Amino acid sequence: MEECIFCKIVAGKLPTELIHEDDVVAAFADISPMAPVHALIIPKKHLAGVNELSEEDAPVVGHMIMAAQRLARRLGVSASGYRLVINTGADATQTVPHLHVHLLGGRPLEPKLG
Ligand code: 5GP
Ligand code: ZN
Repeated sequence: MEECIFCKIVAGKLPTELIHEDDVVAAFADISPMAPVHALIIPKKHLAGVNELSEEDAPVVGHMIMAAQRLARRLGVSASGYRLVINTGADATQTVPHLHVHLLGGRPLEPKLG
């Protein structure tokens, strides 16, 4: 996925400070934060989005959630609360076609999701 910006970040071709990295996932601060804490957790492997997932990708998705849990603790929002968001497709305003979980917190978030 030559032109995918998140694949470029994983490959080190777009200078971005990783706040977590392991064999399966990477995480970094959102370039345009919507909350005091706004991180993105992505699989290192290119997966376009939830619609494109296969059963065999389930461990990767589980790994993303567990990484988000640890990151939330490290970023100090475990106790205060946070939201994990995966936008999928046009109506949800998914702009980057590489699966990512938004981790949002550090302030009271809007009660309405839609
Ligand atoms: P989406 O709208 O697809 O759910 O979220 C994509 C997110 O990626 C947006 O919040 C946007 O600010 C973020 N983003 C887009 N390009 C870059 C980038 O080059 N670096 C970083 N750190 N975040 C990006
Ligand atoms: Zn990609």
